[in-house]
Amino acid sequence: MRALTSVLANYSIKGLLICCERQSMLHRLGRALPPLLLLVILLSLGAALLLRWFGTTSTSNDLIREFLLNPNVRPQLSNQALRACPDAPFILPSSGLIGLLWGDTALPYNTLRRHTGIDVFGDGPSGTVPIFAVYDGYLTRADDWLSTVIIRHDDPLQRGRTIWTYYTHMASRDGTQSYIVADYPRGTRERFVAQGTLLGYQGEYAGPGAAPIAMHLHLSIVTSEADGSFRNEAFIDNTLDPSPYFGLPLRLEDDPPRPIPCRP
Ligand SMILES: [Zn+2]
Repeated sequence: MRALTSVLANYSIKGLLICCERQSMLHRLGRALPPLLLLVILLSLGAALLLRWFGTTSTSNDLIREFLLNPNVRPQLSNQALRACPDAPFILPSSGLIGLLWGDTALPYNTLRRHTGIDVFGDGPSGTVPIFAVYDGYLTRADDWLSTVIIRHDDPLQRGRTIWTYYTHMASRDGTQSYIVADYPRGTRERFVAQGTLLGYQGEYAGPGAAPIAMHLHLSIVTSEADGSFRNEAFIDNTLDPSPYFGLPLRLEDDPPRPIPCRP
């Protein structure tokens, strides 16, 4: 009996010790929890913000990679130049994969800096895939523009409003040769061009000092300043959704198949 009492007492003491050790641990955890919780919340918020800024659901670069690496798939993914969708005022400026879309967040873009136009990746050597004016207008090429022209239009979807179509990357990868046709030398101002006029050829030039890019045409539709001049096309707020002009679903959120079919 004495032995049993001793054993029970021993268990009680151990139980008490374990109980109090647990309480002490809980107590310590309880004191540490607010800063820990705060840290977890802050980290979660930071991760969510990073995802919002830099995260992307765009699969455009996978498509472009497939197009560039596999010549066999190119015809099956390409839209054709000079075609117009029913009731659409603009014709397509160049043949190829419409890779990056308007508002695209695929690298090197992100949700804070979205793609301002469409990128058309042609099939063929640099300097051989033609680019045409999408609509009647007046062409300007600034004195220092090696690979770029811009055309002023009376907006066919909102008569009386001036819009611009901006075409770039029309030069060799090292910038030694412009692919803009000789009719439009640097310094050209307000020269009339009819829809379908040849402007130049797709190239790989991305600007002075910039790394060369895969051959393509970048085209954006740019709005006007109050004085009628064109806005900076590098900002998406200065550009228009090209979809209604081409009759094609060209926004990132449209997630269109390739080649992109006309909108119903
Ligand atoms: Zn582009």
